Order: sequence, then C-alpha cells, then structure tokens
Amino acid sequence: MTHCPGLIDERRKERISVRFFSCVCGNRLFFENVQCVGCGARAGFCPVCREVTALHPDGGDIWRCGNRACGARLKLCRNYSEHDVCNACVTEVEAADPAKIFCAACRCNETIPDLSVEGNRAKWARLEAAKRRLFCELNMLNLDFGSAADGCAFPLSFDFKADRSSGSGGFREMDEGEVVYTGHDSGKITINIREADDAEREKLRVILGEKHRTLIGHFRHEIAHYFWEKWFGGSPPPDCIRLFGDPGNPPYQEALERYYNSGPPPDWNRRFISTYATMHPFEDWAETFAFYLDMEASLFTARNLHLLEAALPADFDTRLDTMQEMGIRLNEMNRTMGLPDLVPEIVPAPAREKLRFVDRCVRANGAIANVPVA
Ligand SMILES: [Zn+2]
Ligand SMILES: [Zn+2]
Ligand SMILES: [Zn+2]
Ligand SMILES: [Zn+2]
Repeated sequence: MTHCPGLIDERRKERISVRFFSCVCGNRLFFENVQCVGCGARAGFCPVCREVTALHPDGGDIWRCGNRACGARLKLCRNYSEHDVCNACVTEVEAADPAKIFCAACRCNETIPDLSVEGNRAKWARLEAAKRRLFCELNMLNLDFGSAADGCAFPLSFDFKADRSSGSGGFREMDEGEVVYTGHDSGKITINIREADDAEREKLRVILGEKHRTLIGHFRHEIAHYFWEKWFGGSPPPDCIRLFGDPGNPPYQEALERYYNSGPPPDWNRRFISTYATMHPFEDWAETFAFYLDMEASLFTARNLHLLEAALPADFDTRLDTMQEMGIRLNEMNRTMGLPDLVPEIVPAPAREKLRFVDRCVRANGAIANVPVA
C-alpha cells in the first residue's frame, strides 16, 4: 500500500493541534475551558476524540463525552475534580488503574506546589495549562514521551517547586540551597513556581534582557533538553556537534559563569536565535528547539483559525518563511495594541541551518514514535 506521508502527517497535525472546538449547544469552546458559557455545561478534554467538549453526567463520577461521534465514558482527571487545575479527562477503563487516575499530563507530576500557601494553587493552574499545550504540540508532532506509569523508556517528570526563602531579590544572585533552578536533568523538568507569578516573571525578563519570558516558553525550552538526552545521550551525531558545538568544551559550568560574567558576544545576532543560546551548545539547542516549537504551534493555530489561507507547506524553509512573514504582520498588530512583538526573533543563516537540523530530528523521531494518549 502506498500513501503520501507528508499529506497524512499535515492533516493529522491540524486535527490534533490547538483550535476552536464546539459545544453541543453550538457555542465555541477553547482549549482551556472547564465550562460552556453558552449552556453552562461542564467542559473538558476528551482523550478519545481529542476534542474539548461538553461533558454530560452519566451516573456517579462518570461523564459522557458530548461529541456525538465519540460519546466515550470518562472520569475527570483527579487534578480536575479535586484541585481545578486541569480540564482533561481519563477514560473510565483507564481510570480503573490507580496509576492512571490522572490525565497523561498530570501523571508526569512528581512534585506539586505546597497548596497550603496562598496563591500557589493559581500558580499551579497556570503551569498545568502551559504543560497541556506543550503535550498537545508534542502529540501533534508525533514525538515519543511520557510518564513512567505509561511505560515510557525515558520517563518525563516534573517538579513544580518554590524557593525556600521567599522574597529574595535576585535570581542567579541568591545563595545556593535557597533557590530552585528551572532546568532539566535526566528526564526531570523542574520549574520554579515563581515563574507563574506575572509580576515576578516580568521582573526577571527585564533583568535578563529577554524579549519574551513565558511559561509555555519555559516548557518548550526544557523539553528540548529532555529530547537531546533521549535522542543523543552523551554522543550527539557529528552534524549536531558541527552546528551547535562540542558540549564538552567548554564544560557547562565554566560556560555558565562566563555568560553571566561577560554576557553574549557582540555579534551574537549573526549566529544565534537568542542571547541565551550563546551560553553553551546545550542552551543553543534548547533555544533553537523552543523556537521550532513556537513556529510549529503558531503555524497550526493560524491555519486552524483561518489566519493562513493556504495549506501549510511541508518543506521546512517555506514554513519558516511563512512564520516570519506572518510574524511581521502580527508584530505590527501587537505594536498597534502597545504589546511586545509576538515574533521578535530574527533568524540569521547559521540559526536557520540549526533549525533545519531540529526539523530533521523531529521528523525522524516523530515518524517512528508511538502516539501517547494525552
Ligand atoms: Zn454549550
Ligand atoms: Zn470524545
Ligand atoms: Zn490532568
Ligand atoms: Zn536550558
């Protein structure tokens, strides 16, 4: 049997990516909705049809998916029913397994914020919403990832933690042992929940001279480190070293100190996607990969919302050109409203070549992966 993988791939991605959904009452539903504002029905994400739909009570704690073509019997993710920080469901069958009372995204949590601290539940909810968007995109790209409960060979997990001494001023300046560093290590992504406080995050953005600092951006950056470790381990392929540099030289700690002491090289924008990408090959990969995820998510959302008329091109370079052209227009829209540029990045030729490499890695690994349920 022959088929056109490119075409099937793009159609599947359109279906799985973030888009508008509809309630049985005809009202529009959004990815994060927990209730339809039209008819008042409870709403949630059904893992079977992959739609955000109305949920109809079906006895006890069972809900039926409101999508008529689906009608799956569902339970709310435990973080939805108990803490209201999630809007995903689990199938009734799956929820019978105590390891799967949480949805695929919440199953990856190892440490959640201390809910006895005022404000932490709201911060946690913002983190989970960003994480669900990340998972949606990784599924769209057909990448293989997941929790230990899902039998993933390189399990992904999350720690959402707060600094032990709150109210400290700086970020890198704080004493060791007092601060939670946002980062990745061996499949574990740690996020300092301070990042979910808008005022705190904006303060850090200004201190660090960044164009954007967002929760979804943190997730996209850290998942890049996860995939480097999963795909390359300690031996990245020669092409990767040629483009991003040798991660052993200079060693990470040395590169980190140099970056925070001296800043990026003056000609950084002729070679890198961002200033932080100049710090070390690992960070160049993560910044480049995060931009790639920004691009893919934006293109599919734009396509699904009919902001782009033509079907998305399969070829990477045309996709990037489409993103940049769209970015110029959206930046002007944001400036009209006094907001920062939506797509601030300028992509110099060496960064474009790195992005092409990321695209090859995603396509190679996406093609062979199983699709996890989320
Ligand atoms: Zn409705
Ligand atoms: Zn459904
Ligand atoms: Zn959940
Ligand atoms: Zn990083």
